[in-house]
Amino acid sequence: MKKIAQQAIVIGASMGGLLVARALADYYQQVTVLERDILPNPGKNRQGVPQDRHAHGLLSRGREVIEQLFPGITQELKAQGALSADLLQQTRWFTNGGYLYQKSQSNLNMLLISRPLLEAQVRKRLLSLPNIKIIENCHVLGLLTTPDQTRIVGVRFTHHPSDGSFESTQNADLVVDATGRRSQSPVWLEKLGYEKPQEEQVHVGISYMTRIYRRQPEHLQGDLLTNISPSLPNWRYGVILAQEGDRWIVTIGGYLGDRAPRDEKGFLEFAKSIPAQEIYEVIKDAEPLSELLPYKFPSNQRHHYEGMASFPENYLVFGDAICSFNPIYGQGMTVAALESLALQNCLNLGSQNLQARFFKEAAKVVDIAWSISVNNDLRITQMAGAGSPMVRFLNWYMSKLHVAARTDRVVAIAFLQVSNLMASPYSLMHPRISLRVLWGNLLQLGIPISDI
Ligand SMILES: Cc1cc2nc3c(=O)[nH]c(=O)nc-3n(C[C@H](O)[C@H](O)[C@H](O)COP(=O)(O)OP(=O)(O)OC[C@H]3O[C@@H](n4cnc5c(N)ncnc54)[C@H](O)[C@@H]3O)c2cc1C
Repeated sequence: MKKIAQQAIVIGASMGGLLVARALADYYQQVTVLERDILPNPGKNRQGVPQDRHAHGLLSRGREVIEQLFPGITQELKAQGALSADLLQQTRWFTNGGYLYQKSQSNLNMLLISRPLLEAQVRKRLLSLPNIKIIENCHVLGLLTTPDQTRIVGVRFTHHPSDGSFESTQNADLVVDATGRRSQSPVWLEKLGYEKPQEEQVHVGISYMTRIYRRQPEHLQGDLLTNISPSLPNWRYGVILAQEGDRWIVTIGGYLGDRAPRDEKGFLEFAKSIPAQEIYEVIKDAEPLSELLPYKFPSNQRHHYEGMASFPENYLVFGDAICSFNPIYGQGMTVAALESLALQNCLNLGSQNLQARFFKEAAKVVDIAWSISVNNDLRITQMAGAGSPMVRFLNWYMSKLHVAARTDRVVAIAFLQVSNLMASPYSLMHPRISLRVLWGNLLQLGIPISDI
């Protein structure tokens, strides 16, 4: 493929940074990723990504796109112990007070693997490309610009190699900020005389308490995942995911500061109190393989870079730095993967006005994931009654859809396609689905269809 410029720099080598670097590798002679951390051996945790110790599900669409970017990676991950699960046959989804239809093939697959191993394999594949370099232990401090500050021309960083630290600069034709939720881009832009992007925060006060257990074949009758969503009036949740090495990762928690205690007895009691009992049934007798580990996540956070009146050339923001979603929906890595595809499409048309074109396309990706997570969060944090009439209607409709999905395989699959970012949320409103929702609810009420 013909390269459009010489040097691109990506700041941050987590999933967002790795995926954007993959997209750039086809268009820039050299892509250099600068990462603050010392990168660990495969499968080990690291400081700059504290969330990697907690349950991480890779949505079906995310796996598909990562496979497209790194052909063969699914098989490589399976060879390292990742498990593949059909989303209806080997998993259980408890939502709005009942389980989705089970024990039937959906042909939607999920790859179950620990976050550190997934990231390590993506990094390995990225590094196998001839024009990629990752410099670890390298903390980016700020941006270099042209004198009129209309164009970014590089970065300033401190590097800490083993033989001493130094501060330096590196020039580039494109700089991408993939530094996550705490990205400094709004501050850096303001210092350069640009307005800050409009910021949206939707408070959720999510807590996670996570522990690893040994997985035995009889657990969950051999199923590989149970996801228990908040269900009126009980807003607690939990997930148990199989991982490589015969392990379970279990995360349980609540909204608005409600959190599982960090002691054995309290943790088990909390697990018993979430809307369904299956996680508790497994962990009450399972062998713990880790300590209890907490995490707090305050809010869905979105920066509207697509709405800025002016923005410097040759600079992009990516992944969680654009939008960080409530993690219980497992969307972050998949959104980063989809943004990577969007960027490839933009680069196919060259580098002119890249920032405006990319932010517009990234906003379309983010809009969908944001509508799924935030609409549901508003139902929970505002206790069902509040929210705009549209949000109230959507949440009412979803509760009816979940009722129908308990007995209707087609509705269950349609829901999983949307929650896995394989289909638009609007697909759930199509008469093909909405009539089945009506039908399913009438049947649950015992009203025969012939009576209407
Ligand atoms: C508790 C929790 C659970 C989650 N669960 C899921 C899940 O189940 N499924 C899912 O898809 N997503 C999940 N996510 C989201 C997912 O982790 C992120 O979307 C994903 O890591 C992509 O984020 P990112 O690469 O943009 O940013 P981050 O992962 O935050 O990475 C930022 C990187 O930038 C580096 N960095 C920061 N500042 C600098 C600097 N100045 N110079 C150099 N390097 C720097 C950091 O060290 C880090 O490597 C979860 C998030 C949390 C918090």
